[in-house]
Amino acid sequence: METNPLNFRPHELFVIAGPCAVESENQLRTILKSDNKPTLIRGGIHKMRTNAKSFQGMGDEGLSIVSQLKKEMPFDFITEVTDARQIETLLPVTSVFQVGARNMYNYELLKELSKYNRPVILKRAFSATISEWLGAAEYLFNLGEKNIILCERGVRSFDNKLRNLLDLGSVIYLKKNTPFKIIVDPSHSMGLTPYVCDAAYAAVAAGADGLIVEVHPEPACALSDGQQALNLQQFNEMILKLKKLAPVFEKELRL
Ligand code: PEP
Ligand code: MN
Repeated sequence: METNPLNFRPHELFVIAGPCAVESENQLRTILKSDNKPTLIRGGIHKMRTNAKSFQGMGDEGLSIVSQLKKEMPFDFITEVTDARQIETLLPVTSVFQVGARNMYNYELLKELSKYNRPVILKRAFSATISEWLGAAEYLFNLGEKNIILCERGVRSFDNKLRNLLDLGSVIYLKKNTPFKIIVDPSHSMGLTPYVCDAAYAAVAAGADGLIVEVHPEPACALSDGQQALNLQQFNEMILKLKKLAPVFEKELRL
């Protein structure tokens, strides 16, 4: 029986952090050895990029980097599954599967994932209504409500100043009306590093159970999404502030 590393108690606020994509052993090790390092590590192995010529993830090579590091130090790894054929190879290193915004409507993928005893973070599609998002979550029903985590990552809007429009209203609504854990991705919502931490604090105020944040030791050199990544010092500062902020909303930060 697998345990769900995101099965925190209702008053606990958890933080998942890591690079948009696993790029090298050194990159991931640096994050794993940093101050206030998260125990819940995200990292893309298979990337779904809007442009076919962009970096698509390391694939199997990324997988071996993660398994090697897991032998050296304990951490829970969260990665996106972009195609059902990846599930079996990702299983040995993955504690929680992520379904990205581009795949929220991929019901065949969701049906396949519902056969495995592994929690799933279901990101909201760019233009999905809350009902469509909950409709997609129904396909994961077999996993049980504790293993379905909804992630608000911002939606498309008429405005183009920021990458997406962070819909905190959805977080407030879903917390009051569904049994699921709701997390917020301030990185893909805002799309630019200087705004990520403030969006994270706002998410806590809206009642989010957790955050998923992109962190990179050298954002300027990142192969994907460097413009929205926090460096390790910025991440550390965010954690220190979250520790103080969480109790205001009757929560306790858990790393
Ligand atoms: C990601 O988490 O790196 C990602 C691609 O996110 P989204 O599916 O929300 O765009
Ligand atoms: Mn990303």
